[in-house]
Amino acid sequence: MDIFTYIIIFMMGTVFGSFFTLAVYRLPLHKDITHERSFCPNCNHRLEFLDLIPIFSYIFLKGKCRYCGQKIRIRYLILEILSGLVFLMAYASFGIHYPNYELSTLVAFVFFVFMYITIVIVAGIDKEYRTIHKGTIIFGTIMQVLYILYLYIMEGTSIYRYSIYLVLLLIMQIANILYFKKTGKNAYILEILVFSFYIIFVTSAELFLPISIFTAVLIAFNTLIQKVKFNLRDRPDILKENESKATSIGYFLGIATVIVVLLENVLKYCIK
Ligand SMILES: [Zn+2]
Repeated sequence: MDIFTYIIIFMMGTVFGSFFTLAVYRLPLHKDITHERSFCPNCNHRLEFLDLIPIFSYIFLKGKCRYCGQKIRIRYLILEILSGLVFLMAYASFGIHYPNYELSTLVAFVFFVFMYITIVIVAGIDKEYRTIHKGTIIFGTIMQVLYILYLYIMEGTSIYRYSIYLVLLLIMQIANILYFKKTGKNAYILEILVFSFYIIFVTSAELFLPISIFTAVLIAFNTLIQKVKFNLRDRPDILKENESKATSIGYFLGIATVIVVLLENVLKYCIK
């Protein structure tokens, strides 16, 4: 039994889950994400080690800040648990089994983690700021290039297909940066294209079709929920305001990608 490994993998996922909140909050503000300690956004008290343990700190502190008593939003806890589950599912579906750890599956899992981090942070920043964070996309692209080089050198995989997607991704990213330099604004459509090409680059063109369909379904579903929610509250003014607010497409695209990629992995594993 490697239940112990599963627990560690789950914990790793929860640590990344709490890292996402911090990254989404700090990256757009150009703040350091690795060295500076977290602090409570309400009382600014620096958080100690014990306050930073995922899930457990939330439970022991009963969902409140230890210093000022401010409630911690439950969505942080949910994100941590979900992240742990994603890690578990990915790890299991990659077919990594104790004690036969194959290098190729371990490497595949590590680069899956890099892809996952990139997509969740991009999606989170898009939800909060409605922009696709360039730095995170560049980080994800570099990691995927390293992975493809590994596949090419160690396993002799053909990289022809990948290079086309990479070139398209780079063209979109350069166009995006030039547009920003020229106008000082982001072209959201261009940004969504960059994110889409990143997703095709790390998954595949075939997988992008179900991802797009799923994204459209999520957006439609979300619009419907908003409508019902505000109609029930009888607040047509809020509904109108929300309707005029543009949707964060990248947020839904990110969620759809993570779910579709996981499902694909699990299906592949079940068929094997
Ligand atoms: Zn506080």
